[in-house]
Amino acid sequence: ETLGQISAGINHELNQPLAAISSYADNCRQFFLKGRYDDAAWNMEQIGELTDRMAQIGVQLKAFSRKTSGEIEIIPVHGAIDGALEILSPTIKKNKVNIVIDIDPEDLEFFANHVFIQQVIVNLLSNAIHAVETVENPIIRIVARVNDSMAQLEIMDNGPGISKENLDKIFEPFFTTKKSGHGLGLGLTITERIIKEMSGKIIVETERNGGARFIILLPTPL
Ligand code: ADP
Repeated sequence: ETLGQISAGINHELNQPLAAISSYADNCRQFFLKGRYDDAAWNMEQIGELTDRMAQIGVQLKAFSRKTSGEIEIIPVHGAIDGALEILSPTIKKNKVNIVIDIDPEDLEFFANHVFIQQVIVNLLSNAIHAVETVENPIIRIVARVNDSMAQLEIMDNGPGISKENLDKIFEPFFTTKKSGHGLGLGLTITERIIKEMSGKIIVETERNGGARFIILLPTPL
């Protein structure tokens, strides 16, 4: 990906919320002058949400520009999953997502950098949570096994899945099907890059239920 592509993508993602913030601020001032304080407060809330979203873009970009790979350690798979779930717990509760975890053997470990693997799992779970947003019984299953002397971690959801033509594109920088301002399309690019740096592999498949299944393979201590 060239610097030009990246700046075009960022520009697009930042301009939309910036324009919105500007008009909310304008509304806010006018409501305030007219003494319509509830309306003014509502507009301020929108500004707050938009700035949070813009901050998220910053967090993603920081990860994208990180060059050196962190130190590789032996990490318990269970701990890595728990850490990611803790970060996402407000969203999981809010969306009433059922999370099913199945790790066998229970004390399975992989070689990874703890910050990076956390980010990978958070990325995949965030996408899964987003995918099940419109589903009646949202379920995300997290399964870990030993596969051919590698540790295999699968994250599956019962969302709408990924269409055949998009399956090849989802790891490309700036590919997103999310609404403007909601996704920068860098999550899976970063995820794949991190996994490769840790001598692993990431694969995507379609679940029998039509949802998405992401499979990560990482070296495991024998
Ligand atoms: P973003 O989340 O900003 O869109 P990603 O790189 O994380 O960027 O994801 C790229 C695209 O891959 C998403 O916009 C979506 O179309 C698709 N995708 C990723 N995970 C899932 C999933 N679990 N279910 C359905 N589609 C998914």
